[in-house]
Amino acid sequence: MKFVLLAIIIALVVYLLKRRPQKSTALVDTKSMHELLQQHVNFYQRLNSDEQLLFRNRVQHFLDTTTITAVGNFSLTELDQLFVASSAIIPIFSFPDWAYNNLNEVLLYAEMFTKDFDPKERDKNVMGMVGSGAMNRMMILSLPALRAGFEQDGSGNTGIHEFVHLLDKADGATDGVPEYMLPKDLIAPWIKYAHEAIHEIKTNHSEINPYAATNDAEFFAVISEYFFQKPHLLQEHHPELFNILEQVYKPIV
Ligand SMILES: [Zn+2]
Repeated sequence: MKFVLLAIIIALVVYLLKRRPQKSTALVDTKSMHELLQQHVNFYQRLNSDEQLLFRNRVQHFLDTTTITAVGNFSLTELDQLFVASSAIIPIFSFPDWAYNNLNEVLLYAEMFTKDFDPKERDKNVMGMVGSGAMNRMMILSLPALRAGFEQDGSGNTGIHEFVHLLDKADGATDGVPEYMLPKDLIAPWIKYAHEAIHEIKTNHSEINPYAATNDAEFFAVISEYFFQKPHLLQEHHPELFNILEQVYKPIV
């Protein structure tokens, strides 16, 4: 029995040493936070100075209440932490009282990972995920994917994508219908337009990232990335989807 206990303790210590998490400790001062956001976050650039102040306060509150952990032998920069917090705040910016009650910690991996976090598996293609089961209340993001969402001027953003899943999950079901945010009379039209758009993707008649056709939840996350990254393009190409998302997110910019 003692040997079993000893073996468990050794296994636990080995696991913890291997994981070597590095908790975020750096506090970003106001001036450098403004400069970093201004340089790297398009959404922030589009805000007026009052809104920027509000954005910074909410980013700071997120950083104060959420643990951000680097998993592996690397350190996170201030900008990395701001990318995580910006991903969280952008989708809820028009909801001043909204906080992520279903999240305690964001884990950042140095590369993409597998669904089961198996280091021996070669096919690592997951950029981010919202944890479930033992990893409930956690989000996992690949650091290169997080950075690319802000640094490349495309319609995709992995950080925003995963936080949109959390919003979707807040009503109990990650089903592509954010019931707390979507007016009831828009639920049926939303599902109809979403399914039409998914059909267009599947028949190669759409410029939307094909991953959106995976299911309704992925469609909602991918189209939300597009909405925040390239609002004018989405409005031009898919006005019916854009109009409903405007009702969901009530953007002030
Ligand atoms: Zn997803």
